[in-house]
Amino acid sequence: MADIRILSEVETFLARQHRQYIDGQAVAAMDTVATDIINPSNRKVVASVRQATPAQVQHAVASAHEAFTGVWQQTSAARRGELLNRLADLMQAHREELAQIESLSSGKLIGLSRAFEIDYSIAFLRYYAGWATKIHGQTMNLSLPSSNGEQYTGFTLRQPIGVVAGIVPWNFSIMIAVWKFGSALACGCTAVIKPSEFTPLTMLRVAELALEAGIPPGVLNIVNGNGRTVGTALIAHPKVAKVTFTGSVPTGVGVGVAAMQAGLKHVTLELGGKNPAGFLRDFPVERTVDGIIEAAYLHQGEVCASAERFYVHRSRIDDVLEALHHTLATLKIGSALDESAQFGPLANAAHFAKVMAFFEKARAQDGEIVHGGTVAPGDGFFVQPTAIPARSQADTIMTEETFGPVASFLAYDDEEEMLHYMNDTHFGLTASIWTNDLSKALRFVPRVEAGTVWVNMHNYIDPAMPFGGVKSSGIGREFGEAFIEYFTELKSVIVRY
Ligand code: NAD
Repeated sequence: MADIRILSEVETFLARQHRQYIDGQAVAAMDTVATDIINPSNRKVVASVRQATPAQVQHAVASAHEAFTGVWQQTSAARRGELLNRLADLMQAHREELAQIESLSSGKLIGLSRAFEIDYSIAFLRYYAGWATKIHGQTMNLSLPSSNGEQYTGFTLRQPIGVVAGIVPWNFSIMIAVWKFGSALACGCTAVIKPSEFTPLTMLRVAELALEAGIPPGVLNIVNGNGRTVGTALIAHPKVAKVTFTGSVPTGVGVGVAAMQAGLKHVTLELGGKNPAGFLRDFPVERTVDGIIEAAYLHQGEVCASAERFYVHRSRIDDVLEALHHTLATLKIGSALDESAQFGPLANAAHFAKVMAFFEKARAQDGEIVHGGTVAPGDGFFVQPTAIPARSQADTIMTEETFGPVASFLAYDDEEEMLHYMNDTHFGLTASIWTNDLSKALRFVPRVEAGTVWVNMHNYIDPAMPFGGVKSSGIGREFGEAFIEYFTELKSVIVRY
């Protein structure tokens, strides 16, 4: 099948001069480098975006700070919720336009862009909107002794932290930004978002829709550019009170250090993983293969929560790998805008090179590749979905995150050994256990070292469920009621009377 027709509004949007979005307006930066945005399905330039100047980063934070202490502080919690819901309505109305821009710049299959980037973002925005009116402190019973008949009463206020800097990766450029600014705005904070330099377009459009929804100028600002200059300047700005970052572990560690050095700013770090999936012996081969497809290959594996390490009982592993090879061979690889494609391109040239280098390493170190391990036909950044048996838990394919469509397999003999392998890593983002024996699964769950553990499923997130990593996979939680803690300060008030 051919690519879908590009909407005229998408063509008009792409042809624009793309800039920063500050204080409710597009702001030009004519003297900075323009970065080409490449369509990963055919390597053609779809647009170009200018990097923010240091003065524009200052301007964005100043505008967010003015809105924080002014218009947004005077906006009631109920109104904040209403405005986030209105933005969700507008995203719904512009669903196809946003989805096409996303697929053209990230290589995400159009069905996924519609369902994940837009529909999930809408669900998250509505979830945060609902919380805006439910953020509260507590009254306390104090234990202070009273010597002269005086009494004390104490209570806490939950107050917005201030200006939030949100730094976002390229894999879900709308949804991850929504996690950051939706949380921030619901709590009464304002935001400056720095999208990934590879996928900055959709958030520029979302920011325009936010203004159209009635979110006042300055409450949501977008600055574009690379991490080293624009990201660093944003973190260092004294008026930024909190940094919420999603990306790789090494970058996240640097961001955390920079945020501490810039005045002990609050930090949330949502980082990478090398997530395990453990299949117990009772789980049938066909369902194991379906589970592996769900866990490893969604969005070409470019999902932080995806599994890359698979543990299968020794009695079943050969059958599973053979069946998986047959299933992977039937996947239709194609353009992100071809609705019949089941597997699209990788997101950008740098990531393509990284995954190709990983294939080389795997071939050199581990030998056998059950499926894939090569490029796939096409002009874009296409690779084959890949399955590789490991020789040991220490192999590179079992230890390094590829963030690509690469599933590695190791056989185990008993379940305690499987659990040991699953936890034998410095990462701890997600994990899954697959079995028909739920009581066994529920006994395993507390012993698995991960922020999210799924049973008989993988890669499902919900606004109501807190998400984040343990060990090197991060600090803090997004969504669920837990998000409020990360965007507010608790103030204690004690009154003597
Ligand atoms: P990355 O760490 O290279 O970049 C992420 C963002 O940080 C980008 O906007 C980048 O410009 C910026 N950045 C880079 N250097 C910076 C610096 N020195 N200071 C400030 N900002 C800087 O990650 P990526 O390649 O865009 O994304 C892939 C990684 O993200 C994978 O490791 C993946 O597991 C992780 N990820 C984690 C989650 C999660 O929720 N835990 C979600 C999605 C992706």
